Amino acid sequence: TIATEDLQRLFALIAGDIAAQRDHLCELDGAIGDGDHGLAMDAGCAAAAKAVAALDPAQAAPAAAFNAAAKAFLNAVGASSGPLYATAFMRAGAAVKDRPALSDDDFVRAFSAMAQGVQERGKAEPGEKTMVDAWRPAADAALAAWASGTPLSQSLDMAAQAARQGCEATKDMTAAKGRASRLGERVIGHVDPGAASAAIIVASIAKFVR
Ligand code: ADP
Ligand code: MG
Ligand code: MG
Repeated sequence: TIATEDLQRLFALIAGDIAAQRDHLCELDGAIGDGDHGLAMDAGCAAAAKAVAALDPAQAAPAAAFNAAAKAFLNAVGASSGPLYATAFMRAGAAVKDRPALSDDDFVRAFSAMAQGVQERGKAEPGEKTMVDAWRPAADAALAAWASGTPLSQSLDMAAQAARQGCEATKDMTAAKGRASRLGERVIGHVDPGAASAAIIVASIAKFVR
């Protein structure tokens, strides 16, 4: 099972992987946005990891860890990604209710709830060149694999692969949401920064359960 101390490891892992790609994410956002995406994700993930690390695992259930991450991420980030990830983490918390530790099935549901949260908060559909183009296929891949009996770690490896492919596919898209939507055809050929950071996070999650 996955307990609060495991989620402390997970959020630290995500924060480290995002920090390592901070400048790259800013470059991607510099091409089709305002250039702050790496800073925003780094600040948000670091704040989330710190808030989750500050919890006493004996007192705080996994849902409380997700909620602490949501609140910290929102407070640390002034960009669009702030409310999107805050909603994702809150939905993960709601999906696991007051479980003292998460089964593999709980974890898949929490993962899928994150994708759903991003999608509902931003009201973006796949194909609109946003992080949804990484999150939606990742969640669909994880759910399909898990439902057909694939073990958790392989299900999430498949999710990571789907997120990477989904991110790559944003190159060919024009944007219908966010800043990039003002640039029309000029954004073609560029990867969406939010899809790129989403692919990093899904890869971190897959690494965590391995
Ligand atoms: P900002 O544009 O406010 O500076 P960020 O740079 O942190 O915010 O994030 C930009 C990313 O946010 C985009 O690359 C895109 O993936 C994502 N995004 C923007 N609007 C939406 C939306 N409505 N739904 C989902 N994702 C979105
Ligand atoms: Mg930006
Ligand atoms: Mg900004």
